[in-house]
Amino acid sequence: MTKKISLRMRLTLITSAILAVFCIMFTLFSLYNANSNFVIPDVANDNNVQGSTGVEAPISDENVKYVDVILVGYNAFSTSSYIFMIISIILGSLLMYAFSGVALKQVRLLTQKIANIDKNELSFRITDFSAGDELNKLADSFNMMLTRLDIAFARESRFSANAAHELKTPLTVIKTNLDVLYLDECPTKEDCLESLEVVKKQTNRMIALVDDLLTMSTANVCNTDNYVDIDAMLGEIAAEYEPRISEMHIRFNIDVKACRIKANHVMLKHAISNILDNAIKYNYQGGEIEIRAYPEENNYTLCISDTGIGISEEHVKHIFEPFYRVDKSRSRAIGGAGLGLAIAYDIILKHQGTIEYSAAKQKGSIFKIVLPIE
Ligand code: ADP
Repeated sequence: MTKKISLRMRLTLITSAILAVFCIMFTLFSLYNANSNFVIPDVANDNNVQGSTGVEAPISDENVKYVDVILVGYNAFSTSSYIFMIISIILGSLLMYAFSGVALKQVRLLTQKIANIDKNELSFRITDFSAGDELNKLADSFNMMLTRLDIAFARESRFSANAAHELKTPLTVIKTNLDVLYLDECPTKEDCLESLEVVKKQTNRMIALVDDLLTMSTANVCNTDNYVDIDAMLGEIAAEYEPRISEMHIRFNIDVKACRIKANHVMLKHAISNILDNAIKYNYQGGEIEIRAYPEENNYTLCISDTGIGISEEHVKHIFEPFYRVDKSRSRAIGGAGLGLAIAYDIILKHQGTIEYSAAKQKGSIFKIVLPIE
């Protein structure tokens, strides 16, 4: 019910109620004062007049006249007090209604401007509005919110377009191979096997991409409240990547101090694995990788450095963006969709940590992750 009453009406009702309470209080108070400071005897029932001193006096004719005058005066005073009280309440309420209408005019204007915004037109901003007070701040906050929404929507649609493109590429390759096979009237067994090999490779690529997309969507909602022995986790990751490291004859150093932190085991392992995977992927045969991890005050710092190809300065600010690859053809050839670092970034952010890149002194890359211990 109260929701249906307009803000203007609600303000008027509240003010009128307060005004009524005060007017009634003042009227009753003044009537009580008048009553107790004047002598008002009950002439019909009492033969004596009790003065303000408390001493009773017999009623003379002159006194009766005097009392009549007081009674008439008192009655007139109380009647006019009640009338004045009612007029004050009505007038106050009407004035409040009129003033609140003027005061809320800017609110109505702002509401109208917001209501006119097209749902597909997020670049719109409230510009020609100057109420000069809190309403202007509200309009500014609304504009800021629109800017953030605009950026978020643009990012979302870029993300969807990139994901669609990444899925379309392997599908096109599969279709082309199948078309060629179909047009060939009598394909050899080798032709079939070759096409099957391509289909298998492209299918694996799509599965990896869909897995990455799923990980990205769960990274933001995962529970990071479990206790994880991060040194043991790093040991597990190193053991899993050991075959690939030795295949590339990479020298591998690991120096990890024990620590227990609050994290999501699966997600954090995924993030660190992505960094180590890149350190191997973008390294040279016979290169070097080092993992150093240690607690420092309330944080746990983890550095993964490699002597690989490194990342040139102009690309550094983009590497944590989804689908960003420094060298598209190279990344694609080694099976990267440009989601590894974006996933790692989201996961570390979810753990209230930070991840940053710096170029190694000689050559190569250093990824530094800082995680809060609690
Ligand atoms: P990808 O799946 O292509 O590896 P990532 O998100 O993991 O995608 O990385 C984004 C880009 O950052 C990569 O394409 C690569 O060019 C660059 N990159 C990431 N890690 C390294 C590294 N350790 N050394 C050199 N370049 C790297």
